[in-house]
Amino acid sequence: MKCKFLYLLLFLMPLQSNTKTALVCGAGGFIGSHLVKRLKSEGYFVRGVDLKYPEFSASAADEFILADLRDTVQTNVVVKYRAENSFDEVYQLAANMGGMGYIASHDAEIMHDSGLINLNVLEAARIYGVKKIFFSSSACIYPEYNQMDPNNPMCAEASAYPAAPDTEYGWEKLFSERLYKSYARDYGMIIRIARFHNIFGPEGTWDGGKEKAPAALCRKVSMISNGESIEIWGDGEQTRSFLYIEECLNGIRRLMEDPRPELPVLNIGSEEIITINNLAQMIAEIADKQITLTHIKGPQGVRGRNSDNSLIQKTLNWAPSTKLKDGLVQTYAWINAQVQKRQAK
Ligand code: NAD
Repeated sequence: MKCKFLYLLLFLMPLQSNTKTALVCGAGGFIGSHLVKRLKSEGYFVRGVDLKYPEFSASAADEFILADLRDTVQTNVVVKYRAENSFDEVYQLAANMGGMGYIASHDAEIMHDSGLINLNVLEAARIYGVKKIFFSSSACIYPEYNQMDPNNPMCAEASAYPAAPDTEYGWEKLFSERLYKSYARDYGMIIRIARFHNIFGPEGTWDGGKEKAPAALCRKVSMISNGESIEIWGDGEQTRSFLYIEECLNGIRRLMEDPRPELPVLNIGSEEIITINNLAQMIAEIADKQITLTHIKGPQGVRGRNSDNSLIQKTLNWAPSTKLKDGLVQTYAWINAQVQKRQAK
């Protein structure tokens, strides 16, 4: 009898447990796949959804569903957790995106796909009573007119308006920010919005056209011999800041853990500004190679961009602190290993 009772108790335990549940949209992508790992390490039950599985390692998600979030019916299926329960948290990272080369030449596709994804996920989250939803916006929403001077870009959150992003990718993100805010206002949903600034790290796209500057430069440096040259788009004097993936996850989690019902849109980025030329040289130093730079025509985006962390520091009493070089050491080692593997084939 005692034994039977124990079995019954064990059977009921998962239903009574306080395990938090999360849905990660875009779980097959770079940030999404890392986020799944982080949430699992914190004890969450995680469902991942994407068009594809993560490319470089198996997903850590408890459930992984291949689905197209441009499709309303498929989206409703994945956003619904259990008949009696809704997800505690949804992380909306799915987007049609890439580096500057991709963003500069796929306007319609980017606006169409990412617009539909956000409309569908948010509406499904409303229908199924999701408790809190995170949306990954981008530094690309900031007006071009504030990013003409490479040494003095202006990306404080309040400078987003009057709006003038330099890409349609940025306009879609701005539209979606407004969409999430509308749902918060009209339906009382709890939303969190972060504007990511150039996230990089291991297990990110490193070739094929969708890779971003740090990964592309790591690949180029890895593939040449000492003393050779790599190509840089433009004069290389454009500036950016780059944030290591672990710090991005720290920012996302702090934003979601904060119990306040309303928080402002926040930058999640680094304030360590660098020119693309110097970024290439920093990677060469890590690789222990002497390189020269050949400047060629190519899309460059705005002249200067840097995160402004005053508001996140004030709001969350936190800002990222990992040095660019420390993140690049990890990233170069990983990309170099991928290059070696490919060359050995
Ligand atoms: P990523 O391309 O690696 O991941 C996005 C994922 O979304 C991909 O796996 C893709 O397959 C998936 N996806 C696209 N269309 C889909 C669809 N119709 N249905 C289901 N899944 C779909 O990009 P990432 O670098 O991991 O970026 C994640 C989010 O952060 C994106 O919203 C991106 O715009 C935003 N962001 C990223 C950066 C950055 O530097 N990585 C900077 C600013 C903003």
